[in-house]
Amino acid sequence: MSSKGQEQGPASQTIVVVGGGIAGMTAAVEAAELGQDVVLLERGPSLGGRVAALNRYFPKLCHPGCGLEINYQRIRANRRIRVITMCDVTAVDGRIGSYTVAARRLPRYVNERCTACGACARVCKTEVPNPFNYGLDRVNAARLPHEHAFPMRYMIAPEAIAAGEGPALAQACAYGAIEPEEREQTFELSAGAIVWATGWQPYDARRIDVYRYGESPDILTNVQMERLAAPDGPTGGRIIRPSNGEPARKVALVQCAGSRDVNHLPYCSRICCLGSLKHAAYVREQYADAQVDIYYIDLRAHDKLEAFYDRVRADPQVRFIKSKPAHIRFAPDGRPVLHGERTVGRDMYAEAYDLVVLATGMQAVVPAGLKSGGVALDDYGFVVAQDDAEGFWPAGVASAPLDVSMSVQSATAAALRAVRAVRGVAGARAQGECQK
Ligand SMILES: Cc1cc2nc3c(=O)[nH]c(=O)nc-3n(C[C@H](O)[C@H](O)[C@H](O)COP(=O)(O)OP(=O)(O)OC[C@H]3O[C@@H](n4cnc5c(N)ncnc54)[C@H](O)[C@@H]3O)c2cc1C
Repeated sequence: MSSKGQEQGPASQTIVVVGGGIAGMTAAVEAAELGQDVVLLERGPSLGGRVAALNRYFPKLCHPGCGLEINYQRIRANRRIRVITMCDVTAVDGRIGSYTVAARRLPRYVNERCTACGACARVCKTEVPNPFNYGLDRVNAARLPHEHAFPMRYMIAPEAIAAGEGPALAQACAYGAIEPEEREQTFELSAGAIVWATGWQPYDARRIDVYRYGESPDILTNVQMERLAAPDGPTGGRIIRPSNGEPARKVALVQCAGSRDVNHLPYCSRICCLGSLKHAAYVREQYADAQVDIYYIDLRAHDKLEAFYDRVRADPQVRFIKSKPAHIRFAPDGRPVLHGERTVGRDMYAEAYDLVVLATGMQAVVPAGLKSGGVALDDYGFVVAQDDAEGFWPAGVASAPLDVSMSVQSATAAALRAVRAVRGVAGARAQGECQK
């Protein structure tokens, strides 16, 4: 980090947490419950990050609400936490005790008077691709970010404002909650320490050209499969062929799609194998006669999840095929066909499927302003934790590909280090004042 402003300004005791996923929320509540003021900045319209968009999550395969709701309650109950959504942090400068965080807040066009009654949605005519469902369907531009959103407040996509719908939406709202004139704002915050919890984005499957993603609606990524299987997803949880709505009874799960590949992501994301085992279970629960084929290089059920792997492996309708498919072509009926060679036996295959799911990896998201601020990144783009003389710590997948429980552990550690840092700086300054 640059040393701009060091030692001069007053020591800030505030901890800024960037990213409101499971890691950022955990860091915020842990620090606030220890008595620190926290500002939690989230780029999206609601908290929960990518966990909120999972259908179910291991180890217990429960609804993501199980883990998220408790954090929402802790945030609601703690006056020391200030949450700012729609807020993208673009740069960080300074050092322990006196950081400056530069942020930009995009308009939501709906203020805190919103009661989520839905009157605006009833008059809004514009539709946009649904980002929560990874573009699998379209939604009304005036909407809740998703069914379980926190905060439970509507948002309006800029497309509706651009289409001139603002005045009609404002008129439909009995609470004066619609603000069509809202504009993007930029601002700066002072912080004593920063927890960087910006998480990950799915690797762009379009870049793996041999797998033809984007050329057929029946080739999905693993994050889209989570939404396809979710009861609040685009099909109400029915796992179908998006091309024609028929049940997807024969499904291929392609491991390491772009991962452990020097041309794409050279590392293993740790989670994808278990993600695909979970997807095999989703399909098998839905169709008694389903066949699921998992194409893999190696399979890793990390941590304590070997028993889950054993359970899926014991199912005779789930085949494990050791092979990295070479490419996908299309059958005359439009179905995607996987071509490749089995590593064991070395025979060639060409197998058609109703649905192909590409298990793409997790890629870190780091804004250019952070890189120029001197934050160290590892060879794969994840943020490296600094020593305790600094006040900037990564948490969750911003630091490495992690699952939820590991993200929570890393966030708790980051929060404790941040609290110790701001209290240490304040203590040292107070002592300095006394000695003057
Ligand atoms: C297909 C798949 C299935 C999975 N299933 C499971 C499972 O069953 N169980 C499990 O334990 N794990 C699972 N995982 C892993 C799990 O999703 C991650 O462990 C979890 O998302 C990590 O949370 P996070 O808070 O670190 O990151 P995220 O969930 O990515 O949250 C980061 C937040 O930061 C925000 N943000 C980003 N940049 C900025 C910025 N510049 N300014 C402000 N905000 C910003 C984002 O909008 C986001 O809300 C799965 C992963 C995949 C790929």
